[in-house]
Amino acid sequence: MASHWAPEWAEPQPSGEPDDEAELRPDWDCQSCGACCSYSAEWPRFTLETDEALALIPPQFVAADERGMRCEDNRCSALAGKVGEHTACQAYAVRPEVCRDCLPGDHACRTARAAHGIR
Ligand code: SF4
Ligand code: SF4
Repeated sequence: MASHWAPEWAEPQPSGEPDDEAELRPDWDCQSCGACCSYSAEWPRFTLETDEALALIPPQFVAADERGMRCEDNRCSALAGKVGEHTACQAYAVRPEVCRDCLPGDHACRTARAAHGIR
């Protein structure tokens, strides 16, 4: 499987641990989590999006420098709800590539969940 982009804070597993593919947890429900959307202001940054794709993101959710999603502290402004209970992305259909690439159970997901105490 082609590896997907991972933010710098997503530390690789120690040698010998299963890879991302083996760790994926499609049973983890993002709508009762939201940890990766509320982990780091450096995370929901734009990468490979086209200008056309970026233009679809509601401007109130875009950072002043236009290099990523606007965050309040570590939380993406597009995230609604309470982390660990019930959350929703208010820009889901037009969310950045990094958000599409983060999969339940991968390193970035597990790092964010651990930081929020979500098992
Ligand atoms: S941390 Fe993982 S389970 Fe939680 S919202 Fe992100 S991808 Fe989904
Ligand atoms: S755009 Fe949506 S999926 Fe991406 S970090 Fe913000 S709330 Fe999460």
